[in-house]
Amino acid sequence: MIRRIDARAAEERTWDIVVIGGGATGVGVAVDAASRGHDVVLFEQSDFGKGTSSRSTKLIHGGVRYLKQGNVPLVMEALRERGILRQNAPHLVTDLPFVVPNYRWWEAPFYGVGMRVYDVLAGKYGFGHSENLSVEETVERLPTIETEGLRGGVVYHDGQFDDARLLIHLAMTAAEQGATLVNYCPVTAIRKDDQGFVCGVAVRDGESGRELEVAGRVVVNATGAFTDGVRQMDDPAAPPIIRPSQGVHIVLDREFLPGSSAIMVPETDDGRVLFAIPWHERVLVGTTDTPIESVELEPTALPEEVDFLLVHAARYLTRDPTPADLRSVFVGIRPLVAEGEADETAEISREHAIRISDSGLLTIAGGKWTTYRKMAQDVVDASETLGALDTKPCVTEELRIHGYHRHAEKFGRLDVYGSDAVSIRELTSVDPGLAEPLHEALEVTGAEVVWACRREMARTVDDVLARRTRSLIFDARASVEAAEAVGELMRAELGRPADWVSDQLRAFEEVARHHIWPS
Ligand SMILES: Cc1cc2nc3c(=O)[nH]c(=O)nc-3n(C[C@H](O)[C@H](O)[C@H](O)COP(=O)(O)OP(=O)(O)OC[C@H]3O[C@@H](n4cnc5c(N)ncnc54)[C@H](O)[C@@H]3O)c2cc1C
Repeated sequence: MIRRIDARAAEERTWDIVVIGGGATGVGVAVDAASRGHDVVLFEQSDFGKGTSSRSTKLIHGGVRYLKQGNVPLVMEALRERGILRQNAPHLVTDLPFVVPNYRWWEAPFYGVGMRVYDVLAGKYGFGHSENLSVEETVERLPTIETEGLRGGVVYHDGQFDDARLLIHLAMTAAEQGATLVNYCPVTAIRKDDQGFVCGVAVRDGESGRELEVAGRVVVNATGAFTDGVRQMDDPAAPPIIRPSQGVHIVLDREFLPGSSAIMVPETDDGRVLFAIPWHERVLVGTTDTPIESVELEPTALPEEVDFLLVHAARYLTRDPTPADLRSVFVGIRPLVAEGEADETAEISREHAIRISDSGLLTIAGGKWTTYRKMAQDVVDASETLGALDTKPCVTEELRIHGYHRHAEKFGRLDVYGSDAVSIRELTSVDPGLAEPLHEALEVTGAEVVWACRREMARTVDDVLARRTRSLIFDARASVEAAEAVGELMRAELGRPADWVSDQLRAFEEVARHHIWPS
């Protein structure tokens, strides 16, 4: 990828679109632009998905809560996107039943009607039908639900996915379509021509330390919570447009919520939605919504956020989780677009907004994972006009995402790799040792580490344990214990010197500190 960038610079050829940011938004733009036939290059300062895109609740959803706010167009757009994504990445998007447990007499009719509206809005993109449940049916779906005062429930359906895995598969899709994408390459400056119009970026190759100059007809700022920092590289006086807030999830063992349904609590003490979701062999409980002052790549959960989740989980589960039960904690920063004077971040718009600065920097902000494809389509449409590029139709509604497989469940725990599962298994037939789990509490094998290095641009131990596999979410302490074995395999694959592993271990322990609770 770096060689391609150098070759283009040597030929003094300009890229059609330069994308800053390798999260769902930026990688989505790379997929859309490349599949239309534009020359696109993407730079990510850290690893693909290191920001918010690997730290979501992992739902592909219409957003029942927006329905409550009366935002029908937003819900309809998201439901449509949900259907398109399931069609194009069936190996990664699955149907998940959600039960809203009812403890007050009015909740069953109220939520029952609301969920039926949700079904109608989904139309042909619907997942499954909602229904009212008796107490017995609710307990059948949620064997560990708190039964004291339980009057029944309402079940509805939404989509679930593995966020970092989808992101890696989108990056691979973009590359297959001809895009150039590099991780560990921060954009350090926005370049302007004699008339003051944006004409490219300066980039630092984080591994070699080299500075690269990259010319582009359009520069897209898709940096999520970091949006304002890049806008200010373009114009130091640019007013902030992002109001960041962080969301925490805690991770518990499946015993806390066996079965295959999730719990959705429409309104907690502070008016927010709470989910308890079976995900792989764990349960995710989240989330909080805490306004924050500064934006960091590795944000930290506040004790009161973890307490809030433990208290609310205890309210709905028969066994009360304690801090000692936390396998991991993860925090993501919402890139909410500040609209007017809203005080509460929960009330700020989740819709996306495209802004073009006076010098021509295109910023895409807001939105959510579920709508990444539509956001990308809007960005590339706007880029064609802004950069006077050839106008080409968007093709991503029909574009299959890397790994596409309609029956990936047959690959067992490698199902998230979709069609790549076959090649990963092949690695173990060449070297049977690679089939062994690297830690007794984690399912990750050497074959996945080797695959991540060879085919998925993994460069650090964190890349493998946090995003190529989800070990850091499954069990943060076990991940630290597995880090050395991962590092040794990576060192051999990437041809690194002997002291590379110890540096990596130190760096990974620092990352894992943010996921281990009590830390
Ligand atoms: C707690 C939480 C739960 C959520 N749950 C859901 C959900 O269940 N479903 C859903 O649809 N949505 C959900 N969302 C929303 C969704 O996750 C985000 O909208 C989406 O991931 C944002 O993607 P992004 O690419 O805009 O930002 P990011 O993923 O943060 O990507 C931006 C990238 O830009 C990079 N960057 C920054 N500066 C530079 C630079 N100078 N040079 C190069 N790269 C740079 C960063 O390193 C980062 O990787 C959730 C969000 C949060 C916070």
